[in-house]
Amino acid sequence: MKIGILGAGFAGLSVGYFLKKSGCDSFELFESSDVVGGLARSFKWHGFDCDLAPHRLYTDDDLVRDELLSLTDMSQMRRHSQIFIRGKWIQDPVNAIEVILKFLPRDSFRIAWHYLFRQKNPETNFENLVLNQFGKGLNELFFKPYSEKLFGIPADEISAIWGKRKLRVGGLKDIIRRNSRLYFKDFYYPVENGYGAIAEALHAKVKSHVQRNTRLINIEKSMDRAGYLCTFQSDGKSFQEYFDVIVSSLPITLLLGWLGKPLKLRFQSAIQTYFLIDKPHVTKNHWFYISDSHFKINRVAEFKNFADRNAPQDKTVLCCEMTNTDDYSVENVQKELQSLGLIHPEEILDSKIVKIPHAYPIYDLDYENQMEEIKAFCARHPNVHFIGRNAQFLHQDVDEIFASGMNVAEQLLQQINSIEANLPEEYVKIMN
Ligand SMILES: Cc1cc2nc3c(=O)[nH]c(=O)nc-3n(C[C@H](O)[C@H](O)[C@H](O)COP(=O)(O)OP(=O)(O)OC[C@H]3O[C@@H](n4cnc5c(N)ncnc54)[C@H](O)[C@@H]3O)c2cc1C
Repeated sequence: MKIGILGAGFAGLSVGYFLKKSGCDSFELFESSDVVGGLARSFKWHGFDCDLAPHRLYTDDDLVRDELLSLTDMSQMRRHSQIFIRGKWIQDPVNAIEVILKFLPRDSFRIAWHYLFRQKNPETNFENLVLNQFGKGLNELFFKPYSEKLFGIPADEISAIWGKRKLRVGGLKDIIRRNSRLYFKDFYYPVENGYGAIAEALHAKVKSHVQRNTRLINIEKSMDRAGYLCTFQSDGKSFQEYFDVIVSSLPITLLLGWLGKPLKLRFQSAIQTYFLIDKPHVTKNHWFYISDSHFKINRVAEFKNFADRNAPQDKTVLCCEMTNTDDYSVENVQKELQSLGLIHPEEILDSKIVKIPHAYPIYDLDYENQMEEIKAFCARHPNVHFIGRNAQFLHQDVDEIFASGMNVAEQLLQQINSIEANLPEEYVKIMN
């Protein structure tokens, strides 16, 4: 059975890794870029290891954690993150008591009142979900402006399903434990080469199966066999290859479009602006959010605070994420950092921009209907597996994707075993 894996981001690499680990060699992995790791990759810049926005590993799945830790050397760190709201720095994740104390007396009464006497709204959209959990005061202070900035749509037009995932509404137990995806205190991070070191370690295990600089430009169902005919482009030339089974981590809109199911699902793009700063540190944070809507920056990461083993001592790098980018310019980003009181213009030594076209699936209210249609369509393509953030249109971190990679690989191995079990013995001997 020939398996074609599309995309060498974390999803594609995970499936390849688990297949290989089980002794399966009948797969090929295709990546359009010259580097692997996708959204979870890193790059070197002025001696710093930079990620695409802050990336950290948190998982409560022991099996996943142990397997990932066995791949590359990581250290466990205590989370330092903050939120900048209306001129004040508060703890991240939001702690209602701290917010009330910090915003005394003007906003505090409102926040406390709305928090204590919050009404139950129907859980039909993200805003209602936040109102139910945190009340109107905190919604207006943080959740509404931040999510509207991130997705570019009103908070009451954002799906409740996404809200549940993002807020990780796990109930009181999670809040008390303060050890969930939202409330975690500690996380893991590679000691060298940035977050991308994890994807690089996966790549090292499957390298001989990976074709980089090879872009899928079309896929069609084979007329006479159960599999798919893929058309790739590499070095200006195109070629076709047949696969019995496809594992796709490409944006679902792309793949289903080729297979004859155009979708209205949308992705939010992001621009990451990196600044080389002429001082040892700007903050102590790993990352911080900027909630106020008059700032275009969503979130800033300072990579040196994640791992500084090889970083230049006297300088630091900030990475500023923007998703609402109509009037984007490096100068505007720089001005925002200045107005936060974090840097002086003469401290900026260099800047770099990285654009991410598919950074966030946009979970509008229609998305739930679209997902139902997708399910029905995909049922007709049992030999195509969708895995990863953009292929499943699902807000997932790498640990969740890694676990799905293990599941997909298991399913494929079962399929291979059942094919072999039905073949005459002499064929199996030849194949092995
Ligand atoms: C801003 C941001 C912050 C995040 N923070 C964290 C975090 O702190 N912790 C965490 O664990 N996760 C985090 N994540 C999530 C994590 O980065 C992603 O879930 C994960 O990297 C997605 O992997 P993937 O393989 O599904 O998709 P991708 O990384 O998008 O991989 C898809 C791959 O397919 C390739 N490709 C695309 N089109 C084609 C084509 N036509 N032909 C061939 N190849 C193609 C792409 O080049 C890419 O390499 C964050 C994500 C973002 C955007």
